[in-house]
Amino acid sequence: MAVTSSPSAAETTQYDLAIVGGGVVGCAIAFFAARSGLRVVVLEAANLNRGSSGSSAGNLHGQLLSPVARRYVGSARAERLTMIARVHLKAVEMWKALPDSIQSDASVAHTGGFMVAETMAGAQILEAKVSYEKAAGLPSSLLSQAEGRRLFPMLGETVVAAEHCAAEGFANALTAGPALARAARRLGASIEVHSPIRRIERTGNAATLIGDRTSWSATKVVIAAGWQSPSIDVAGAADFTVDKEALQMHVTGAIGFEPTAVVQHIEDRLTVKRTQFGTWLIGGGWPSTVAPDGSLEVNWDSVEGNCGLAARIVPTLRSTPLLRTWPALSASVGERGVVVGWLDDARTCALAVPGETGFTLAPLLGCYLAESMVRPGILGAVADDGMTMLDRWNPEESRAPDGTRCVVF
Ligand SMILES: Cc1cc2nc3c(=O)[nH]c(=O)nc-3n(C[C@H](O)[C@H](O)[C@H](O)COP(=O)(O)OP(=O)(O)OC[C@H]3O[C@@H](n4cnc5c(N)ncnc54)[C@H](O)[C@@H]3O)c2cc1C
Repeated sequence: MAVTSSPSAAETTQYDLAIVGGGVVGCAIAFFAARSGLRVVVLEAANLNRGSSGSSAGNLHGQLLSPVARRYVGSARAERLTMIARVHLKAVEMWKALPDSIQSDASVAHTGGFMVAETMAGAQILEAKVSYEKAAGLPSSLLSQAEGRRLFPMLGETVVAAEHCAAEGFANALTAGPALARAARRLGASIEVHSPIRRIERTGNAATLIGDRTSWSATKVVIAAGWQSPSIDVAGAADFTVDKEALQMHVTGAIGFEPTAVVQHIEDRLTVKRTQFGTWLIGGGWPSTVAPDGSLEVNWDSVEGNCGLAARIVPTLRSTPLLRTWPALSASVGERGVVVGWLDDARTCALAVPGETGFTLAPLLGCYLAESMVRPGILGAVADDGMTMLDRWNPEESRAPDGTRCVVF
């Protein structure tokens, strides 16, 4: 995407909102904010979508991820499962209307999803998980082995039970973020690439964003810089923690053309599905290796473990060549799921960093942050629980500054 304003223009333009980071989250915030009439600039250190977003599997997770279910089922905090499921249901619903709103299909496919168990212990966790999801309104059901294989005939024989959740699917992670950016740009947003922000200072009622050669002024700021967010020096900001996690993904050659449901595993790390291009994307959180110099390398044990598991659960993959494996970094925010909120008491600068389901949550976060810029009271402090904030907020009720329902579909 071309740079849209010169350094001198940057110095004189007063934006309503500056967004630091041009991943899917930053681009979603830009789209919703521009749509609600704000003057928006996105400041991206490198190129759009080159961080976690463009490396992601692009799965739209409605059902609870297996590590989340295993963490809370049977614990004193199990009710949290229902809340997390409600937030993800809202997020997947937003993806349904997104293609029309941004005039791009972004290869969004609402295929539904499965989570399989290979042991009876796994099946019991699935059963509990389904009950929490149903309480949240998710269309989830528990299937026997035979029912599972009737709905998804490619399932392997080791599967003893499966969950089906109709509110799942995937989008193309290579095109969704850029499509949001193009839509934001059509609505008047400026997108500036190769513009790393080093420091943010508060000046009167506004903020100054200081880059390497120039600076920008905006009334409000959102930092959406993924795992790199802590490296930005924000004057007077509250402390926050974001770690990073080195993961890897795989893509196979094409067999068939119909996109399939996303298949996950309750006791192991797996997401696998056939895309609209006939290729199968395999992931689920297996680690890549961080070299001593900090660069990422393919972890061959993970290739074997991840692809071996995928081929056991979907045996048709055994006849498919593995084309490519790539390592990538993701923000890791632990049990919080998402770190979002104001960084300063004056509510000038906010942070929006999701964790393992950040691609799914991007439109929901984008809409919420956009509304928070005109109604700062709806967003809490960054120390608050981000999932609770997203759960409390209802996109159906959000309003643009003139009172119209502008930031919702
Ligand atoms: C391998 C993998 C698979 C995944 N699969 C899924 C999935 O299937 N479903 C799902 O929901 N989630 C998935 N995720 C998580 C999801 O991809 C991320 O949570 C999401 O993409 C985060 O988007 P983001 O915009 O916050 O961050 P990023 O995409 O990392 O974007 C941050 C941007 O900020 C820029 N930046 C950094 N510092 C600065 C600075 N100082 N100034 C200006 N710009 C800066 C970076 O260059 C980058 O472009 C996956 C992640 C990985 C790594």
